[in-house]
Amino acid sequence: MGHATAYLKTRAWIEVDLKALEANWLLLKAKARGEVIPVLKAEAYGHGALPLARFLFQKGARWVAVATVSEGRTLREGGVEGEILLLGSLHPLEAEEVLRLNLLPTLSTLEAAQALAGRARALGLTPRAHLKVDTGMNRVGFPWEEAKDALLAVEALGIRVEGVYTHLATAGEDEAFVEVQRSRFQRVREALGEGYFYHLENSHGLLLHGGENVRVGLALYGLIPGFSLKPILRLLARPTLVKQLGPGDRVGYGGEYVARGGEWLLTLPVGYADGLPRGAVRFVKGPEGGLYPVAGRISMDQTTVLSPGPLPLEAVLEVLSPDFGPTGLCAWAEARGTIPYEVAVHLSRRFPRVYRYGEEVWEVLN
Ligand SMILES: *Cc1c(COP(=O)(O)O)cnc(C)c1O
Repeated sequence: MGHATAYLKTRAWIEVDLKALEANWLLLKAKARGEVIPVLKAEAYGHGALPLARFLFQKGARWVAVATVSEGRTLREGGVEGEILLLGSLHPLEAEEVLRLNLLPTLSTLEAAQALAGRARALGLTPRAHLKVDTGMNRVGFPWEEAKDALLAVEALGIRVEGVYTHLATAGEDEAFVEVQRSRFQRVREALGEGYFYHLENSHGLLLHGGENVRVGLALYGLIPGFSLKPILRLLARPTLVKQLGPGDRVGYGGEYVARGGEWLLTLPVGYADGLPRGAVRFVKGPEGGLYPVAGRISMDQTTVLSPGPLPLEAVLEVLSPDFGPTGLCAWAEARGTIPYEVAVHLSRRFPRVYRYGEEVWEVLN
C-alpha cells in the first residue's frame, strides 16, 4: 500500500484526493437537473474549506455555501472571489460585515432584512439575499404560507432577492414527509413566480428523490455508501514507538489491554483530539493493508495498536481510509452510534494536509 505523500517528513498527516472529489462532484451534477451548490460549512465537514472552494470554483462551481460569516470571511481572505451563500440565518448584528465581504446572506426574519437594508444604504451597497422558507422543519425560515408576504416585505426594503429555498427535515428517514415539504415548496414557487433561483434538496434528498437545484455536503465528501460515491480523505500516521510486550504488561489509561506476552505494540501519534472517536476506532491498516487492532483506550494524542511484527518508525499506517470498510469514517460513526457528519466535522485541524489530484500535489497546508 504505497502512499503518494509518504516522503513527507512528518509523523501524521491528512491526505485529500481532489480527483475523487471531482468524481463525486460530476456524479452529483449528473443526478441534478439544475445547479449543484457545494456545501463547505464546518471546514468542508473537516476536509478543509479553502482548498476545496478553490478547486471547485476552478472546476466550474458557480457558488459555494458555508454556515457562518466567519467561514465566509476565511474564504474571502484566502482569495475566493466567487459567490458564497451563507446558510445560517443572518443575524441583524452581522449585516454590515456580510455586505463588506460581499457574502450572500439567508434571510429568515424581517429584523435581519431591515438591518441588511439599513446597513447597505449607509455603505452605498446593494443588498442581496436568499429567502429561507420553512416547509416543516421549524428551525429557521419564514413560514411557507406567508412566503409571498415575506418576499414583498423584503423587496419593499430594497433588497434584491436572488433565491428562495427550504431544507428537508427527513430525507432518508421519512419519505412521506419529504413529499409534504416538496409539495409545500412547489406551492411557494407557484405563489412567488419565476425569476428566483429555487433550491431544495440536500445529499440524501438528491440521491433518493432526484432534484433540480440542490445543496450537497455529505455526498460530495463521498460519505454515503451505495451510490458509487467515494470518500476522499485518509489519515496517515507513522509509529513513534515500536516495542514488544511482556506477559501481563498493561497498555494505556486504565491498563485495559493486558498482554499475553510477545505482541508487538505500535504507538501512533493520533488520538481523540484529532477526531478519532474514543471506543469506536477498532483497527488501523498496516503498511501491507492488514488490519491491526487497537489495544487499550485511545488517548487524547496517541493510540496504541498491535502489529504482527516489528516495523520501522518510517512505516506508514492508514488510520482512516477512504472506503466503507472497518477503517472508514462511516464505520467509526456507526460504532460510535452517531452520524458520519458528526465524526467528519471533528477531524483534526492540527495535522499537515496534502491536497492531491491523482499523484500530483495540488496544495500542502501546514
Ligand atoms: C448542511 C446543509 C446542507 C447539506 O446537507 P448534506 O446532507 O450534507 O447534503 C444543505 N442545506 C442546508 C441548509 C444545510 O444547512
